[in-house]
Amino acid sequence: MERETEPRFETRSVSTGEDPAETSAGDVTVPIHLASTYTLPGIDSDLSLEDVDPDRGEYLYGRLSNPTRHAAEKRIASLERADHGFCFASGSAAIATTFLATVEPGDHVVAFDDLYAGTTRMLTDFFEKQLNVRVTSVDATDPGNVEAAIQPETKLVWMESPTNPSMRICDLSTIANVAHENDALLGVDNTFLSPYFQQPLSLGADVVAHSTTKYLNGHSDSIGGAVVTDHDTVAEEMKFLQQIALGNQMPPFDAYLLLRGTKTLSARMRDHEANALVIAEYLEDHDAVDTVHYPGLESHPQHDLSERQQSGYGGILSFDIQGDQSDAIEFLESLSEFSLAVSVGGVESLIQLPAAMTHEPLGAETRSALGITDTLIRMSVGIEHIDDLVADLDDGFASIAQ
Ligand SMILES: *Cc1c(COP(=O)(O)O)cnc(C)c1O
Repeated sequence: MERETEPRFETRSVSTGEDPAETSAGDVTVPIHLASTYTLPGIDSDLSLEDVDPDRGEYLYGRLSNPTRHAAEKRIASLERADHGFCFASGSAAIATTFLATVEPGDHVVAFDDLYAGTTRMLTDFFEKQLNVRVTSVDATDPGNVEAAIQPETKLVWMESPTNPSMRICDLSTIANVAHENDALLGVDNTFLSPYFQQPLSLGADVVAHSTTKYLNGHSDSIGGAVVTDHDTVAEEMKFLQQIALGNQMPPFDAYLLLRGTKTLSARMRDHEANALVIAEYLEDHDAVDTVHYPGLESHPQHDLSERQQSGYGGILSFDIQGDQSDAIEFLESLSEFSLAVSVGGVESLIQLPAAMTHEPLGAETRSALGITDTLIRMSVGIEHIDDLVADLDDGFASIAQ
């Protein structure tokens, strides 16, 4: 019987890309295929480098394609409702490959001035300095700033929403229109919300990147990245870069972990968000806290925009603790459920001090322009019991009150 509707997000998360009929034993999950090469039907078979099609069960050599990676690529494309998906060795590899696929020396990129710090460094120290790609960074919370920065050579607009750690939001569909009116592509790093809470292609983006290290894998035990697009020419170039020019694809074991992680994405994201909302409200009411940055709070300056373009607010928030940096450090070091660590998106709660950790390399001036004070604390709220998390924060505040 034909089904009337396509399977929903939760269903695709569990099964798309994995087909029990494809293995001899009928495995319900795709095995970890480790083979580096595959036997061919014969010399005359038309399995040339360009023709192998994993969708027809054809494999030639492990760098080009691998059944476990192929399943993960189909899964991620399906979750973002994209025609093409690619999995990479890291989020950074995914983003760098996207830039290489969309800009050439002499081209210009407009970027959010509040990107993941590694992406900003990649743009300035590699693409600008070494590849002669010019980059203008703007405060994209006002789409007018993006429009004003566009030049005749602008080929790519690169956004993140919400940003890290200030949780600023940019209007993706307005920015998509600005990019398209100027013959540029819009790319979005969707790591912070995952496709469960935001699907940038449906808002007009042309290409979407992820660090699968974060929510998509979700268990802090794999480094990986993914890119999806509906754009056939960008996809051709991504494939060439991933398989031939760079060979920076995701290894089979990480692809297996990613497939496994995505099965629980919906359930995890709902729990992350429910816990984050309780903690955001707890912090907002706390006397020792100045400002809380979480799009789910009505006090967030772009609460309405985030409600329109996202289907949830996610599990990451930041806040300014009162006192000086030594108070912030004492608070962090006194916690036991929240681990002091960089990264986000795992089932366990993590907490860090951007000015001394992730955003230390930016320098004090850039940090203050981005609103990253010395006492701004960022947390990635996990899926532990909320009462244990709040009790831990209570202990932290008690330790600095003494
Ligand atoms: C972590 C992260 C990256 C980089 O991903 P890696 O897997 O560490 O290379 C890029 N963008 C965002 C938003 C991230 O959080």
